[in-house]
Amino acid sequence: MKFDLLPPRERIVTIMQRIYGYSMTTTSGGNLSVLDDNGDIWITPAGIDKGALTPGDIICVRPDGSIQGPHRPSSEYPFHRAIYAARPDFRAIVHAHPPALIAFSIARQVPNTRIIPQAHLVCGTVGYASYALPGSQTLGRMIAATFEEGVDVVLLENHGVVTGGADLLKAFQRFETLDFCARTLIQARTLGEIRSLTEEEIARSQERGKKLPKFRPTSHSTPELTLRGKICDVVHRAYDQRLMTSTEGTVSARVDEASFLITPFDVDRKYLNIDDIVLIREGRRERRKRPSRAVRLHMTLYRAHPEIGAVITAQCPSATAYSITGCRLDTRTIPESYIVLRDIPLIPYGEQFGQGEALSARLSEKVPVVLLQNDAILTTGRDLPQAFDRLEVAEFSARALIDTAHIGQMVPIGDEALAEIEAKFLS
Ligand SMILES: [Zn+2]
Repeated sequence: MKFDLLPPRERIVTIMQRIYGYSMTTTSGGNLSVLDDNGDIWITPAGIDKGALTPGDIICVRPDGSIQGPHRPSSEYPFHRAIYAARPDFRAIVHAHPPALIAFSIARQVPNTRIIPQAHLVCGTVGYASYALPGSQTLGRMIAATFEEGVDVVLLENHGVVTGGADLLKAFQRFETLDFCARTLIQARTLGEIRSLTEEEIARSQERGKKLPKFRPTSHSTPELTLRGKICDVVHRAYDQRLMTSTEGTVSARVDEASFLITPFDVDRKYLNIDDIVLIREGRRERRKRPSRAVRLHMTLYRAHPEIGAVITAQCPSATAYSITGCRLDTRTIPESYIVLRDIPLIPYGEQFGQGEALSARLSEKVPVVLLQNDAILTTGRDLPQAFDRLEVAEFSARALIDTAHIGQMVPIGDEALAEIEAKFLS
């Protein structure tokens, strides 16, 4: 989807539907705006159901202050205007009160975005604005002054969060990623000490070697075309279940001995299409397309493991909570977890970058899933359904274990029961 070709009203409604649909705002809370080339500010209305907004509900405030539209503009219009004045590089603003970020704002703590490289790259440093009355000029001044320091994300004390960007998708991605960090951090706190990435470690995630040489496919086989649709389905399901964010999560699937398909770099997961998927054949990439930066790792895995037909990496909050604390994700909990996942080792940060040979050597039929320290969970399977099932089971198991800590002590399955499972299902 060419999101930036939609008129401002439709862009705003589309993003508000995403925010409301994924439980990141309430019927009454939150507001979005877009500044267009004329200097008009398009903004959500005050007092209208956020779950049922239509393009006709969006208000336009002209540079002279005149208002066009059937409703009053959002009561937070003063801070939107103040932020645009402070940050000429911003063309869109997102504000809402998702529960995990409210929690941080009440505890008066800024969420740490250095937990995975992508989160820090998307959000940058998070600013903090002290409490002021909602809708007041004072609140507008304080938020704008914080943005003036150069941050793109500001936590509002005892209130929520505001993000800005060069377009609405960028502002939304910052908002969604910060919410992901907050949800992950809350879960991780139950487990133990959180490991933060250094600047050098974050920079390392950006060095992925030279681009693959390109080629022009002359035909597309039926298995390849079928797999393109299946990859999109898996990505959309993972996104809808919040196992991926709009900027993170990679899926690939083997087409034959010499080729595989992989998701592209920098395409919003929600809007992924079959023509975005990149074909890799004999170490070359389909021309005019940019594969995921993890393409070399996936290439190594398919070459070294003929039994692997699909690979997924994703940032699911509960599994990621394990990856940032280094706590052992113990699958000896229920038979399903152990049968589907086996033991899940934690791979030291950095092994997934470059060719990934050391990481590849750790995978086997007995180790189909690994946690990548401060990054993601990586699942493999003979096909996409198996790799995706492993992702879901891993996230469910991680969430169940974290919940267990709130109600009692985790009691693993005993060695004898484990041996029985091994004999019946895994031998
Ligand atoms: Zn608010």
